[in-house]
Amino acid sequence: MQNKLLGVIKEDIRNITKSKLTDLLKKENIKAYQISQIYDWLWVKGVSDFSEMSNISKELREWLNSKFIINSTILKEVYTSIDTTIKVAFQLHDKRLVEGVLIPSGERVTACISSQTGCGLNCAFCATAKITDFRNLTAGEIFDQFVLLNKLSVERYGYKLTNIVMMGMGEPLLNLENLKRAIVEFTSPKGINFSPRRITVSTVGISKFIKELADAGLNVDLAISLHSAIEQKRKTIIPYSKSDSLNRLSEAIKYFYEKTHNRPTIEYLLLKNFNDSITDAEELAKFCRSFPCKVNLIEYNSTDDSRFSKTTHETLKDFKDFLHSKNMVVNLRTSRGTDINAACGQLVNKNLSKKAN
Ligand code: SF4
Repeated sequence: MQNKLLGVIKEDIRNITKSKLTDLLKKENIKAYQISQIYDWLWVKGVSDFSEMSNISKELREWLNSKFIINSTILKEVYTSIDTTIKVAFQLHDKRLVEGVLIPSGERVTACISSQTGCGLNCAFCATAKITDFRNLTAGEIFDQFVLLNKLSVERYGYKLTNIVMMGMGEPLLNLENLKRAIVEFTSPKGINFSPRRITVSTVGISKFIKELADAGLNVDLAISLHSAIEQKRKTIIPYSKSDSLNRLSEAIKYFYEKTHNRPTIEYLLLKNFNDSITDAEELAKFCRSFPCKVNLIEYNSTDDSRFSKTTHETLKDFKDFLHSKNMVVNLRTSRGTDINAACGQLVNKNLSKKAN
């Protein structure tokens, strides 16, 4: 997070909390209106260099530049699917790459944003798990993805982002502090003012941090990647769940709902002959009885060496019909951007250096 330039260690200004930075700037006799201008450049406009802060004095810009750096993110490559979904590769200041996705649907554009540069949880169906040398993204890097995707959305589709899903690379709840800081910036009434109800944090089910997210009072939506309501089966595809039981998860989801009144979404990836039987559907229905929720059934997108395949249309229909018969709210999420490896579970920086649009 620090850069060494001409022997001076400079910290990324966006890694300093607002209250600490305010104190620091006040000590330098920087006036309140100038401090708010600096914040505006950093957390609304998302500048990558102090020289872009055009409404503050040259002297102040030079002082900021002598003390801090801005570790900015750039759009490295852009891929467009035949269904108009866009996948982008972002390059971070340390040359690491993460991916983000834009999913248009009428006047609605959803941005799928990453929270880590890989993932250590090793879910069996996920390509991101193959990147084992990874780090957490900073709040600034999570924020930069929003700014760059929003700009691209306007350029390509003519609409600003309407929804954010933290479903890109990484487990967001294992980077909770930076995630919370980024969400505070997205939703600040003095800044971008994005509605928190249009932000969904997706987790594989880290019970402890689901509760922390509820306690944070951010009012965002929650999605849980369940994929099986049968403990033994779930453990085989989500190794993390060996240490966090379905009972604990259920209790955490209930806590989240009671605290926020936001109805969580249960994500269920249908894997052929693995979790797509009526017995699986029965167990899913039982799991969902403990709290109000909706269920998203997701078609599987295979990756190169994947051991799973896509459930047949007939099985999917039977599964869905069974859940409907239990009066559950069920949506089918069809895959978008599969031709550019942009669909759920496919983000692994695979296309880099191939043809970009
Ligand atoms: S599904 Fe999510 S938690 Fe599991 S390995 Fe992939 S990125 Fe990590």
